[in-house]
Amino acid sequence: MSKISCLICFLLVAFITCQSVKTPKLPVDFVNPLIGTDSEYKFSHGNIYPAIASPFGMTAWTPQTGERSGWIYQYGKDKINGIKATHQPSPWIGDYGDFAVMPMIGELKMQRNERESAFQHQHEIARPYYYQILLEKDSIIVEITPTERCGYFRITYPQSSSAILLLDAFQGEVALTPDGKKITGIARSNHGGVPENFGCYFVLLCDKPVSESGTFTADSQQTGQLNVSGEQVGAFLKFNTTPDEPVHFRIGTSFISHEQAEQNLATEIGNRSFDEVQANTKIAWNTLLSRISIKGASESQLTTFYSNFYRALLFPRIFHEFDRFGKMVHYSPYNGQIHAGEMFTDNGFWDTFRAVYPFFTLLFPDLDAAMIRGWINAAKEGGWFPKWASPGYRDCMIGTHVESLIADALSKGINDFDREAAYQACYRDATDTTGGGATGRTGLADFIRKGYAPCDKVHEATARTLEFAYDDWCVAQVANDVGKSEDAKVFLNRSLNYRNVYDPQVGFMRGRLADGSWRPDFDPTEWGGPFTEGSAWHYTWSVLHDVEGLIQLMGGDEKFIAKLDALFETAPTFKYGHYRQEIHEMTEMVACQMGQYAHGNQPVHHVLYLYNYAGQPWKGAKQIRKAVDTLYGPGPDGYCGDEDNGQMSAWYIFSILGFYPVCPGQPSYIIGSPRYPEVVLHLPDEKKFVIKAINNSDENIFIQKAMFNGKPHQLSWLKHKDIIAGGEIEFTMGPQPEQSWGANIDHRPQSMTKR
Ligand code: CA
Repeated sequence: MSKISCLICFLLVAFITCQSVKTPKLPVDFVNPLIGTDSEYKFSHGNIYPAIASPFGMTAWTPQTGERSGWIYQYGKDKINGIKATHQPSPWIGDYGDFAVMPMIGELKMQRNERESAFQHQHEIARPYYYQILLEKDSIIVEITPTERCGYFRITYPQSSSAILLLDAFQGEVALTPDGKKITGIARSNHGGVPENFGCYFVLLCDKPVSESGTFTADSQQTGQLNVSGEQVGAFLKFNTTPDEPVHFRIGTSFISHEQAEQNLATEIGNRSFDEVQANTKIAWNTLLSRISIKGASESQLTTFYSNFYRALLFPRIFHEFDRFGKMVHYSPYNGQIHAGEMFTDNGFWDTFRAVYPFFTLLFPDLDAAMIRGWINAAKEGGWFPKWASPGYRDCMIGTHVESLIADALSKGINDFDREAAYQACYRDATDTTGGGATGRTGLADFIRKGYAPCDKVHEATARTLEFAYDDWCVAQVANDVGKSEDAKVFLNRSLNYRNVYDPQVGFMRGRLADGSWRPDFDPTEWGGPFTEGSAWHYTWSVLHDVEGLIQLMGGDEKFIAKLDALFETAPTFKYGHYRQEIHEMTEMVACQMGQYAHGNQPVHHVLYLYNYAGQPWKGAKQIRKAVDTLYGPGPDGYCGDEDNGQMSAWYIFSILGFYPVCPGQPSYIIGSPRYPEVVLHLPDEKKFVIKAINNSDENIFIQKAMFNGKPHQLSWLKHKDIIAGGEIEFTMGPQPEQSWGANIDHRPQSMTKR
């Protein structure tokens, strides 16, 4: 245990044992898990549920406020029909292996609309490590605290001879012991991406004598029946309760077996009390969240920051478990077998490669390596890297971005994984034209032969061309790492294919037909068509690895800057394109009030930082401040679009620090506008990196000068190795731009094309 975490333990114990003495709030105390939960199908303020979980926990727990849809918990609803064990990464991907528990009094009600209870937010306490709710219908208080793979419920019923706990396994199998004190089951529901034998095994242990128990199906209940299986199944337990005597339920989950679920329960909860487990999970969160400390932020700003930090520490979900010998093993969602080693899941790499993994490389490099070992195991077991994992291969989004994670890690000296196997899987993504859909690249054959994916043959072809070009640049970095320099040359050459979809006549990336001509009737505000969830306004900037090359394509710095300015100045109009209706990302672009800049979706997430490449970082600073201060907040409406597995949050964290990883795979970060007077990164090996911003305020947003470890810092970017070595960067801020800082060509960020 490090010095920092010892200190945290001390503070925590002091806090718990002596609450009358006012102690400063810990980072974890600022987290609001309800951030982003005021969302609906038509408009996303995050599209997330309050995940009551351990960091990256295998199973999370969340109240369910409506039907079993992707919108598990909606802040505006006033009824709860169960507390769910969930594995959902996004409402668009759906849940798997989920089941729910619901307490009630009197008659057993199985249907969600019959068993639901009113609740009020004033009687709700949500912390990452603890959730409490008063179910008003029967005056029942439910408390839950999570571990990585288990949940511990403490339920306080009023006095009753018929207090009930219902376990709704949805689809699957449930079995009871004759004394009713143990329920086992397999939750088999899923939305694809699973082998035949898939299931989430669970075991529930009850600490109170049970007066009656049984199982149920959709339309019948059977007291005393010990087994049931099918499409809609569950079990119930009844007790005599006295007031103020809570009943405890300990639930273990596993994707391997019932025995493993019991093993997980014994390891993670065992004989510990509810309060002990809660304190441990609180420490786990606080230890990670304490890796960044901030001076000069308000209570509400700290809530926004640490809530974003919490959101960045939930995905990818741990999918490996530890057997009775302590050996790390996992159920493979790729082949249905049990293997040794890491497995992670629930990640849309289209979102997360941009800032989530670069964030891990900075603060949690060992974890980053472990995750990469997991993705390499996925390729070993299933033949390909996943593009969207949940839990196995899912067909969603376009590029093959695990390459980016690997190139980024290697560029930063993180290499504790099988690099040869990593390269093999990268190489397959980049060369095997039999892929497409859930694995590989749709349109790859044309991309190789013609230099672009033609939009009359391939869906969303120009977005694919741009993403494949960046991915190829990443593959080239990995190839060089394993000594395949000839391969690297081929991929580097292909990474210039972005040029083939830029039309200088219109000044945008554009759809191109198989015969080489441009797709007619160009309109930069048309969504879809050759693009994915965006328009030419958004994808024209998708050349992460060669911004200098893009500047040259556009005709130089001035034209590039003018185009960026126009992005923010052009009214946020849009055409539906192939979506044929307004999709939520379009609505959210309008709500952003930043012109055509659509922060609610990922393709533009690097764009505010591109001004630096043309020597005008101050222009980016203005927009970055606007985005961090107006598009993020501490409450249920805290996001301006889908949060997406930590990407929205990681963008915010970096932008608060004052820099952002425009091109993962390149060990550098582009400087924006540091938000607070002082932020400290507590790095591995007890090192610290301090980011100071003198004279910083809501108005003083422009960097006047910068000093790095006491020496003038003219570069408008930072090297990864300089940050992790520890040290200090000191910015002096002012209300007017200092246009000379970062303007010189030598001081700009570098890309593939050199001046
Ligand atoms: Ca998105």
